[in-house]
Amino acid sequence: MADEKPRVIIIDDEKGLRMGTKRLLEAEGYIVDTAENGTEGIALGTTGDYDIAIIDLKMPDIDGIEVLRNIKEKMPNTVCFIATAYASYDTAIEATKLGAASYIPKPFTPDELLSHMQEGYEKRKLLLESERLRKEREERLLEIATEKSRLNTIVNSIADGVLVTNLMGELVLFNPASMKYFDLSNSIIGEYILDFLPEQVKELILKVTNNKESNDKSFSAEIELKPERELVVDVTCSPVPQPDGSLIGVVTVINNITELKRLEYVKSQFVSMVAHELKTPVAAVLGFLRIILDKNINTTPEQKYDYLSRSEKRLQALIEMVNDLLDISRMEMKTKQREIKDIDIVDVVKSNLDFLELELQKRNIKVIFSAEENLPMVKADAGEINRIFTNIISNAMKYNKDNGSITATVKKSGNYIVCSIKDTGIGMRPQDKEKLFQEFYRIKNDKTRNIPGTGLGLSIVKRIVESYAGKIEVNSEYGVGSEFIVYLPYKK
Ligand code: ADP
Repeated sequence: MADEKPRVIIIDDEKGLRMGTKRLLEAEGYIVDTAENGTEGIALGTTGDYDIAIIDLKMPDIDGIEVLRNIKEKMPNTVCFIATAYASYDTAIEATKLGAASYIPKPFTPDELLSHMQEGYEKRKLLLESERLRKEREERLLEIATEKSRLNTIVNSIADGVLVTNLMGELVLFNPASMKYFDLSNSIIGEYILDFLPEQVKELILKVTNNKESNDKSFSAEIELKPERELVVDVTCSPVPQPDGSLIGVVTVINNITELKRLEYVKSQFVSMVAHELKTPVAAVLGFLRIILDKNINTTPEQKYDYLSRSEKRLQALIEMVNDLLDISRMEMKTKQREIKDIDIVDVVKSNLDFLELELQKRNIKVIFSAEENLPMVKADAGEINRIFTNIISNAMKYNKDNGSITATVKKSGNYIVCSIKDTGIGMRPQDKEKLFQEFYRIKNDKTRNIPGTGLGLSIVKRIVESYAGKIEVNSEYGVGSEFIVYLPYKK
């Protein structure tokens, strides 16, 4: 006890008893303070951290029950004894309710007092120990809660979908991103979930749970969640091991690969279209050459000339197509060098119309041209802007009717120079209009059968126009004619 030195406060208005008790306890190694009335007792007892308080029940200023209430409120771990010669049943109940440890009936012998003190001090130690344990538990809980919320924040902010299931297939955790892929809106933690997931995902999860060989093997699959490549995800299911290595659950990560798949698809479509477009003319030229070279086939010089000139035409068209393809590829890779200068759109349109003059005359196609005066210049690469109008104007001629007309107008509207090229040609159906700007798209009907082309011109036009932050619109009526309107922004 000498080492521990319990601290005691004696609150009693009876001086003799107060001092006698103090002496007795100090002789036993206690550290003792005294208060001669209730007021002083409250002041000391609510500020000093005493192990034990001995409180007289009857004091002139404040009675002991009130002192007890005050001390217990501030210092719940101080063990309080009520010392009295007049303990009544009611005060006993009241004192116990307020947390008094016991009564010490007055007068008491030194042994009685010491026995109470010892018992009180044991109680005090128990109180302190349970307080320490409670604090420790609270701190630990707080730590776990912080750790958990940090983990939740991280999982919730992952852009990929994350979903964890236990070995029973019950949902343990999922983040908001996973809800974009699977309908988990009605799912709750702890619910059996596998039947609500796409079949392939369920299979992957079961593969992990049933994999007896290794506990660190993941299984992945590409899954089309919406048809026509509208939503494609890459799903990876990995085991979640316990510290001892045994399996506790499965974590499923869902990665949206729709855009990647779309690009892959476009690329393979493009390659197959190119191959197809190349094959036809090459096969035709090969056919002609084989006839000419075949010693068993008699061909007249005129026939040979005819085959060779047809081959030349085919190869010429092929070269044009390859050049168009190279242009598209340069534009895609943005390796095309540009020489930006002031371009007068009126000049470009006029020179393209002039270039086709002979052919237009041959087919008796009339040109009606009008332009606003003093139009601002467009800052662009001359070659590219020329390419736009060469394509559109030559189409207006190619797909026109004999004796028809081409109306070209250039004006200013808002921030754009607007050029309209309108023909009185074959026109097109609404469904064709939508696909017009796709690579290799050519409208196939009786009217277009004999008109040569690659189907690449308008896709190049659109790329160029959009690269200058412009836009292109089409109005067309089947059998009546078409109008292409190009908007190119000018610098004010
Ligand atoms: P093409 O080399 O076939 O002319 P384009 O990309 O320039 O390729 O045009 C694609 C298709 O759009 C053409 O094959 C044609 O069917 C249609 N088209 C383009 N311009 C017109 C037009 N002025 N009138 C009618 N159809 C047109």
